[in-house]
Amino acid sequence: MDELFGKLPLLYDSTPVLVAAYDAFDRLRYANRSFRSTFFLDADEAPLWSDLMRRNFQAGRGTVVRERDFEAWLISTQSRRGKTGFRAFETDLVDGRWLWMTETVDNDGWMLCIASDITNLRTRGRSVRQDRDLAIKASNTDDLTGVANRRFVTARLEEMLQRSGSEGILGCVCVLDLDNFKYINDRFGHQAGDIILRDFATRIQREVRRSDCFGRVGGEEFILVLPNTSAGAAEMIVARMLTAVRNSRPLRERAEIGYTFSAGVATAHVGDSTTDVLTRADMALYSAKMAGRNRIHLAA
Ligand code: GH3
Ligand code: MG
Ligand code: MG
Repeated sequence: MDELFGKLPLLYDSTPVLVAAYDAFDRLRYANRSFRSTFFLDADEAPLWSDLMRRNFQAGRGTVVRERDFEAWLISTQSRRGKTGFRAFETDLVDGRWLWMTETVDNDGWMLCIASDITNLRTRGRSVRQDRDLAIKASNTDDLTGVANRRFVTARLEEMLQRSGSEGILGCVCVLDLDNFKYINDRFGHQAGDIILRDFATRIQREVRRSDCFGRVGGEEFILVLPNTSAGAAEMIVARMLTAVRNSRPLRERAEIGYTFSAGVATAHVGDSTTDVLTRADMALYSAKMAGRNRIHLAA
C-alpha cells in the first residue's frame, strides 16, 4: 500500500488526463500537472474555484464563458455546481480544445474532477449536445435571478431526505421571504422590485457553501437546503445573510432605500417528507414575520 500511495501522485503528474479535487467550500485542494497547466495554476496554489475562473476569464484563457456578464454567469453556475453526486459534460477551452469533464461529489461535499481531451472525438453532433446541455441548464434555472429554480432546489431537498443521517438528523431547510415586498413594488414599481429580487439572489448565493443549495421557489420566496448542518449552524449562516441584505442599497436612483427578509428554519429528520419539513419551516417563517420581520426563527 505504501508503495502505491507513493506512486499515485507521480502517475497523476505523468498523465495527460486532468485530475483535481475541491473541498466543500470549492477551494482547490489538489490538482495534477495537466490540470495545473490547462488552467494556468502554479504548483502550490489553492484558489477558490470562483477566483480561478475569474482570473482566467479576465486573462482571456481557460474555460470559454459565453455570457457577457461574467459575475452573473458565476452566480448562476455556482447555484447549480457540485450539488448532485455525479455529472459529466463537454466543455471547451479558449485554446480550442474540448474536454470531457466529470464531477463526482461525496457526502461531505468534496468534489473530484477528472477530464480528458476529446477535441477530435465525436465531433459530429457536438453543437446538438451543447444545445441539449443548455436546455437542461435552463430547465433548472430561474429566469429572473439566474439562480436555481424550484425544480432544482426541491430535487436537492428530496436527495437530502433520502440519505441516512447521524442520530437521525439530515440537515436543515430554510425558507427565505422578502419583507413587505408588495409595498416595495407598489411604491417603487415592479422593475425596482425585480432589481431587488436579483440583488437578493446574488447576495445570498455569495454566502452559500458549495455543498448547500439555494433557489427561488416562487415570487419573492426562496429555499436554502443545508445538508449535514445543525439548526445552530444554519442560524449562523442565515444571520450572516440577514446582515449582507440589510446593508444592500440596490436601487441606483433611490440610494437610501434598503430591504430585508425573514427566514424560517426547520431541521430535517430521517423519515420526513418534503412537505413535513417545508411546513415546519413555513410555520417558523410565519412566526418570524409576526415577530416583526427582518429576523430568523427556528421551528419548534
Ligand atoms: P410579507 O412581509 O408578509 O412577506 O409581505 P409581502 O408584501 O412581501 O408578501 P405578499 O405575499 O403579500 O406579496 C408578495 C409580493 O411579491 C406580491 C407580488 O407583487 C410580488 N412579486 C412576486 N413575484 C414578483 C416578481 O417576479 N417581480 C416583482 N417585482 N414582484 C414580484
Ligand atoms: Mg414577502
Ligand atoms: Mg411570500
